[in-house]
Amino acid sequence: MNAATAEGLLHLIAAEPTLLASAPADPDESDLHLRVREGRHLCLGCGQPARCAVVVNSGAHGPRWLDLCSPCWQTVRTANVLFGEVEGAGGPAGADGQAGS
Ligand SMILES: [Zn+2]
Repeated sequence: MNAATAEGLLHLIAAEPTLLASAPADPDESDLHLRVREGRHLCLGCGQPARCAVVVNSGAHGPRWLDLCSPCWQTVRTANVLFGEVEGAGGPAGADGQAGS
């Protein structure tokens, strides 16, 4: 996934947040880790098993899960600097040492 694709993905989420599963209103790090450890979510960017989970605040539809693999998370995070929609509560909960900001 490149930066343009990531930005498109973020715009899609903003337009159609119901594509994503509902997330807790105030997720903490354990919620993020639990989501990743369920191990049955696929990366929204490329379809690989997701290794990170972040929460997107979608306004009227409330918080939503965004599941991503590590490379796609990096791309989305970079795009998100410009777009400003995704709020990872303390960063992604990954099994690869990325947790925490
Ligand atoms: Zn991916």
